[in-house]
Amino acid sequence: MRKPLIAGNWKMNKTEAEAISLVRKLIQGVKSQTSVDVLLCPPFTSLSQLHKLLVSSPILLGAQNISEQKAGAYTGEISAEMAGEFCSHVLLGHSERRAIFHESDELINQKIQSALSVDLIPVLCVGELLEERESGEAANVISRQLQAGLKGIHLPDPEKLVIAYEPIWAIGSGKSASADDTGSLIGGVIRPTLAGIWGDDTSQKIRVLYGGSVNPGNARGFFSQSEIDGALVGGASLSADKFLGIIEQTF
Ligand code: PEP
Repeated sequence: MRKPLIAGNWKMNKTEAEAISLVRKLIQGVKSQTSVDVLLCPPFTSLSQLHKLLVSSPILLGAQNISEQKAGAYTGEISAEMAGEFCSHVLLGHSERRAIFHESDELINQKIQSALSVDLIPVLCVGELLEERESGEAANVISRQLQAGLKGIHLPDPEKLVIAYEPIWAIGSGKSASADDTGSLIGGVIRPTLAGIWGDDTSQKIRVLYGGSVNPGNARGFFSQSEIDGALVGGASLSADKFLGIIEQTF
């Protein structure tokens, strides 16, 4: 019922020339297949060129961040409207933005509102620290991040939001969470929290991804869990072979 989505978060990697070269390989690999949605989130500097390159490909483009402000004197920022010229999606609440740039749940909530106001689909990232998991706090942390991040959000269409569950200790560490634990957490915490906000029907239709050291070797384990609708991939999305290898695991 929910179509798989494989998203690549390139973070602060790839010059424009490198981005074009990677995307050419991905276009070849993905061709015109539509059984899985593929989303690339490159740096802002490559969006315009990649948008032109992807015009007749099913590959989607996303931004890695937006400002919560609409326009004006905010040096260095990019508005939702600007990102929306090239993108269908935007990553929000990534743990690197939360930890390094001190983004609060309240700020993330404002960014989600800004994204939705211009029809950009937020990919809201949530996840717990290792200490929080070890002290049995993971469910509370994730539920709090969802409730605060999504507070007051009107969601007429469940396809206009994606959740990425990314345990922080699994990001870029080579240590992924277990597929079983992740399936249980999504089914036992994330969907019930979404159901508490918008009802069970909407909660069943929202795509929930797993992120954290996904690679072609471990991807199938995650995708075989009925609650996991795809992956948000960091490191492995920088290589065409690895990223295409992950996409293949959804077939
Ligand atoms: C990420 O940054 O969202 C991520 C999941 O990274 P990695 O795949 O490298 O763990």
